[in-house]
Amino acid sequence: MNNNDLMDKIVSLCKRRGFIFPGSEIYGGFANSWDYGPVGVELKNNIKQLWWKRFVQGRDDMVGIDAALIMKPAVWEASGHLKNFSDPLVECKNCHTRFRADQIDTTKPCASCDKSAGFTEAKMFNLMFKTFIGPAEEQANIAYFRPETAQAMFVDFKNVLDTSRKTVPFGIGQIGKAFRNEITPGNFIFRTREFEQMEIEYFIPVPKEDAEWNKYFEMWRENMLSWINKDLGIDLTHVHELEVPKDELAHYSKRTIDFEYHFPFGVSELYGLAYRTDFDLKNHQEKSGQDLRYTDPYTSEKYLPHVIEPTWGVDRTVLAVLCEHYREEEDRVYLALPPRLAPYKVAVFPLLKNKPELVAKAREIYDQLKEHFSTAWDDRGNVGKRYYSQDEIGTPFGITVDFQTLEDGSVTVRSRDTKEQPRVKIDDLQSYLQKNINSL
Ligand code: ATP
Repeated sequence: MNNNDLMDKIVSLCKRRGFIFPGSEIYGGFANSWDYGPVGVELKNNIKQLWWKRFVQGRDDMVGIDAALIMKPAVWEASGHLKNFSDPLVECKNCHTRFRADQIDTTKPCASCDKSAGFTEAKMFNLMFKTFIGPAEEQANIAYFRPETAQAMFVDFKNVLDTSRKTVPFGIGQIGKAFRNEITPGNFIFRTREFEQMEIEYFIPVPKEDAEWNKYFEMWRENMLSWINKDLGIDLTHVHELEVPKDELAHYSKRTIDFEYHFPFGVSELYGLAYRTDFDLKNHQEKSGQDLRYTDPYTSEKYLPHVIEPTWGVDRTVLAVLCEHYREEEDRVYLALPPRLAPYKVAVFPLLKNKPELVAKAREIYDQLKEHFSTAWDDRGNVGKRYYSQDEIGTPFGITVDFQTLEDGSVTVRSRDTKEQPRVKIDDLQSYLQKNINSL
């Protein structure tokens, strides 16, 4: 399958089955805005919950926060975003389409109108979304939607330290929306103007030599690869680690790795890992006038910890998961999602909708199973069509209640991956599903 085809097929599957819809569609759509539908929100929530469980609740050196989206503008002054969070913008002199100067060859014809009219001089364009607080739209009331979740972890550092009794090394994690007025959004949900991030700032002692911070950097590198492979089921041969060259590092970073995924439109950044030194805490301490130093409980030494920052885009995770697990066979399309990510783990169908005794039995099973698994109910059309639609949303098992069920208390349990349909006793269903879901 060619790669453009694959992207088109995924976008169309997402719309058809309720993963992701074009935003504001009844008004003709709103370029590059996307809404997660009924199964999309389940997939996305499963990803976020898995992450939170693994990296925040699952570790005694981690705590979480959930901070405001609009922070005091002084935060963005201290972090350098007001001054530096910009991309170079050029405009085609013929059709006025705007491009990021660092993403095109300005000596070539415009990709939009194909004319060689040339481009305007590059202007730096700040990516932060501006808004006004309160009724008066004046300079004094300007505020910004956060362009990353990270700064809240630095701004709240002292409060977290005082209330959580954590000792260095420890980390603060957060999941939430970020906003960037991207010049060239696109590739479906890969680059949008509002998106979600899962970020960690991991605070470490002041390193005396490189090996001391590298040790934590490597720990997070391994954790990120393990998340990609074990939790998302992504084959690591589809992931490329880009060691960002020294001369291209952001001014605060001593080392950065981009984890890139082989998306159908090209190898592009999925996640990042950076060693940010004490850049952020130092700036916030200086600009806020507050003492943000940590006191070592054993030596009483006071210092500003250094920081390792692993960062994950939620929407890019959703896209990589969809690309990785999309399957086509002669007679069907299915998503081979690991069950932990699947919107529904199991679906229950009465063979015939107009046989009340079948429907009642199927309802009983549905009511029991939904206490333990996220369970779908479907009684429309014929059973073949129901299997087909559950395959497309990645439901690992489909249970059909038929006439034999009423006689011997057994149901068919169809596997998404093998299409086999063994009969299982209703009393054994829960343990059968549990066992098979865990083994996938
Ligand atoms: P890019 O180089 O693709 O613009 P970035 O290096 O600016 O990304 P970071 O600032 O490191 O990205 O953001 C952390 C993560 O947030 C990225 O690895 C990515 O997963 C996600 N992300 C960043 N920008 C966007 C966006 N516009 N839309 C969706 N996800 C994004």
